[in-house]
Amino acid sequence: MKNYDVIVIGAGPGGYVAAIRCAQLGLSTACVESWSKKSGKPALGGTCLNVGCIPSKALLESSHHFSHLKNDAVDHGINVSGASMNVIKMIARKDKIVQMLTQGIAGLFRKNNIELLHGRGRITSRDETGQYHVEVLPASVEGGEILTASAKHIIIATGSVPSNIPPAKVDNDRIVDSTGALAFTETPRKLCVIGAGVIGLELGSVWSRLGSEVIILEALESFLEPVDNQLSDEAYKILTKQGLDIRLGAKVTGTGSNNQEVTVIYEDAKGKKQISVDKLIVAVGRSPNTEGLDAEACGLELDEKGFIEVDEQCQTRLPNVYAIGDVVRGSMLAHKASEEGVAVAERIVGQPGHMNYQIIPWVIYTWPEIAWVGLTEEELQNTGIDYKVGTYPFAANSRARTMGDSAGLVKILADSQSDRILGIHILGPNASELISEAVLAMEFDASSEDIARTIHAHPSLSEAIHEAALSVDNRAIHI
Ligand code: FAD
Ligand code: NAD
Repeated sequence: MKNYDVIVIGAGPGGYVAAIRCAQLGLSTACVESWSKKSGKPALGGTCLNVGCIPSKALLESSHHFSHLKNDAVDHGINVSGASMNVIKMIARKDKIVQMLTQGIAGLFRKNNIELLHGRGRITSRDETGQYHVEVLPASVEGGEILTASAKHIIIATGSVPSNIPPAKVDNDRIVDSTGALAFTETPRKLCVIGAGVIGLELGSVWSRLGSEVIILEALESFLEPVDNQLSDEAYKILTKQGLDIRLGAKVTGTGSNNQEVTVIYEDAKGKKQISVDKLIVAVGRSPNTEGLDAEACGLELDEKGFIEVDEQCQTRLPNVYAIGDVVRGSMLAHKASEEGVAVAERIVGQPGHMNYQIIPWVIYTWPEIAWVGLTEEELQNTGIDYKVGTYPFAANSRARTMGDSAGLVKILADSQSDRILGIHILGPNASELISEAVLAMEFDASSEDIARTIHAHPSLSEAIHEAALSVDNRAIHI
């Protein structure tokens, strides 16, 4: 049985980054990954690279180009006639990007001497010397050799899977989850999505831009609950104007499908309703993945939702066993998983391992994009902290005007007494890139005055952040 300093279980953005950082710090490291593509080889990168962040952004990019050509190019004096979409080619492009990036991680593993153990890993025991024994079952249905390995430290990074709801059982034909929705071979004429969350809005946008009539059914009465209400109200108006038919307070009670269509039955304040569509995407959240880990048998504790219990340091109740990413509490985001992986690796070698849970950026890649970090105005009202608000619309930003993308705004919330920034919220073009200035400012405990005194290039979208910071003290220039 081969012995390592660390065995990481799962090679998503949590696990693969943890493994690389462990190796950089001089620890002998193995990473167990069960995912196989048709090739039978392990596909690294987890949900994010294979069926999450990357493929969805590839499709958002392609559909954005198409929509721009069809709807906005004419404003630039570009006449486009006969633009049409080759969905098969778009999907093939996405698959190629995924393949390139997952292979890139295999290359990083080789470069860092990380041993990849292909199969489903679980901790079986801990011996008297404190070494954990890990069994790796063959990932392929054809079987294969059962491997065993041991290590003093284990990092569990087994991620998450799409959640199910009983009235809409995924059949991977007409009723699909996010994975299926990334692989349609043609644009559905009519598409329903259950859940107006991040996936519902992103994938709903993709197919709507390509011509689908998209209806999104959301059980809650409010739209995008975690987002600052001023931005979510504005986003709702913009997205519905783009053609997304978002129905709030709509509870799905049943579905039925045949080889022609899917029928979705739901109830809202006005009673029972029924719609028929070509495809149905179920996007009602994700659940922690501990299947195959035998978590409780090996002494790990799960909370009521199935997440592995960890403390602030990602330490489980078993000594030297850590858990990170989607399988533990906190936001289900690739960068959160990766940063936890780095922090745990550093803690293993006795370093402090920094992870600031208060300053994790979120981005929803609709167009305009929605990005934020820190507290919303509603959260501040609940905490009772006295705050000041500065806002600035992209309509007044010259770069946004030149781009023809002037919808949305920047909103900065700062402490009334200290001026310390408490939250920055952006609805606008390239908000996913702009948010990094906000994250950096908050990481350095900046005040709105700090951003106001920082020179921003002209003309640039970032000037909207500068003006919002000035607006905290009612001194924005261009408004
Ligand atoms: P995962 O990425 O789920 O990886 C876990 C890995 O562990 C998998 O490869 C799995 O095969 C493996 N595994 C599980 N059990 C075992 C076992 N017993 N033995 C061996 N291997 C095992 N997040 C963002 O930050 N930005 C985005 O834009 C974004 N877009 C998304 C779009 C979609 C459609 C989806 C579904 C998700 C998106 N996410 C996004 C979320 C992001 O993908 C996850 O937060 C992230 O992948 C979590 O990383 P992880 O390493 O914890 O788990
Ligand atoms: P989500 O939690 O963002 O949204 C799910 C939505 O479904 C919620 O609004 C919820 O109220 C609604 N819902 C739940 N049950 C319902 C029901 N029975 N009927 C109607 N509506 C119902 O979850 P998601 O969109 O599935 O995404 C899962 C997670 O993946 C996200 O929370 C996020 O962590 C991650 N993700 C991130 C990104 C990104 O960072 N850009 C993109 C995609 C996914």
